[in-house]
Amino acid sequence: MLTCEERDTWSQFLEYIKKRCSLTAFDNWMAPIKVLESTSESVRLEVPNIFVKTYLLDNYRKELSYFIPVNENGEPQIEFVISDTPVKKPLTPPPRTTPSEPQVQVPGYEIKLNQFYKFDTFIEGPANLFVKSAAMGIATRPGRSYNPLFIHGGVGLGKTHLLHGISHHVLENHKKLRIQCITTEAFINDLVDSLRNKTVDKMKKFYRTLDILLVDDIQFLQNRLNFEEEFCNTFESLINQNKQIVISSDKPPGQLKLSERMVARMEWGLVAHIGMPDLETRVAILQHKAEQRGLKISNNVAFFIAEHIYSNVRQLEGAINRLSAHCRLLDQELTEDLAEKILSELLQHAPKHKVSAENILKSVATVFQVRVSDLKGTSRTKEIALPRQVAMYLAKAMINESLMMIAASFGKTHSTILHASKTIENKIKKDESLRRQVALCRRNIDT
Ligand code: ADP
Ligand code: MG
Repeated sequence: MLTCEERDTWSQFLEYIKKRCSLTAFDNWMAPIKVLESTSESVRLEVPNIFVKTYLLDNYRKELSYFIPVNENGEPQIEFVISDTPVKKPLTPPPRTTPSEPQVQVPGYEIKLNQFYKFDTFIEGPANLFVKSAAMGIATRPGRSYNPLFIHGGVGLGKTHLLHGISHHVLENHKKLRIQCITTEAFINDLVDSLRNKTVDKMKKFYRTLDILLVDDIQFLQNRLNFEEEFCNTFESLINQNKQIVISSDKPPGQLKLSERMVARMEWGLVAHIGMPDLETRVAILQHKAEQRGLKISNNVAFFIAEHIYSNVRQLEGAINRLSAHCRLLDQELTEDLAEKILSELLQHAPKHKVSAENILKSVATVFQVRVSDLKGTSRTKEIALPRQVAMYLAKAMINESLMMIAASFGKTHSTILHASKTIENKIKKDESLRRQVALCRRNIDT
């Protein structure tokens, strides 16, 4: 039993807060909190969900400490109990449908897909073959292959394309399954909206009765603690029912700043990396995209573009869009020279003519913390050999001179430059931290 006095501390806190926040905020956040127990040492509060707890602590920690018992650090001593009551009456009919019925779309939760992102428009190559096969395996047998499937890789390499590819395939071939494909941002926005509209239970029910949930760009869940917990609960609830989950991210699970619990869950199934397509695949992608836009592109031009744009498929697409607009407007044929002219802003080697071997060596030496003289020397220790190869790789990519000239400025043969360049090209496909170091060297080069 709570004494009048103990009840009063909470009421006094509420009264104090009521004068200092809006009525809506008070109704939404404060009114649903119940006092379960209150002693001289702590208070036990029942909150409808984790967000109310976070809201309270984030916004009123100091004020709470005026009214509620505190520990030696001045922290209010509150134990939270999350009521999390199950929905009693379903708001929509149960989601089960017979095979002949189309998917039931719950209002407010429509699936939004890019109609061009399908498996048959996804060009495969060594860097994405594995992940594409895994995605197709899931689309064919959802919940029965790898669960969850976690796809990670850099920007513009086709993660969203694959998630939508799975979704299209499921929508076409497994009509009875309930599916949602959503970005992490949209998931968070849904949560915020449903908190505001007091429809959290409806939202939870929607997500926890899906057969397939695809969540894009999970890195946006980092530093959003309150949302992470709700996402993790949804995740577990689905996995426990053998429902399929697919997640995309710009980093592998272990590098995400998320709770250990969340990371462990994401590593349960298959973690697959999607890399930058190699030259041949980039050429095939360009030709495919050009064809889609009715643009004729010769092999030479395709190779020219693919050789210069190598870190992002979206940029390849941008190049094709620019070229196709230009050729259509001016009714010009697409030659290598024209491509070079139009794409000069996009091309990553644009500053080629300004870069010198000496500047590359300086930048590499700074980033890898070695001496320029070591890079020029002959030491084969790993600490020196790797940055030296990076310098040669950058020189080949950025210096607009013949291989012979570049080799001469390094005091090496042209085949050493070629070998070093190829080695680094392969290594950065697999080694994210090396890729970042190389990018840093590139940015730091004085021109
Ligand atoms: P991410 O989500 O990894 O940032 P997207 O899926 O948005 O990348 O891909 C960027 C663009 O590149 C999209 O237009 C997509 O269709 C295209 N793309 C990426 N990889 C491929 C591929 N292998 N084949 C065809 N198009 C691709
Ligand atoms: Mg994406």
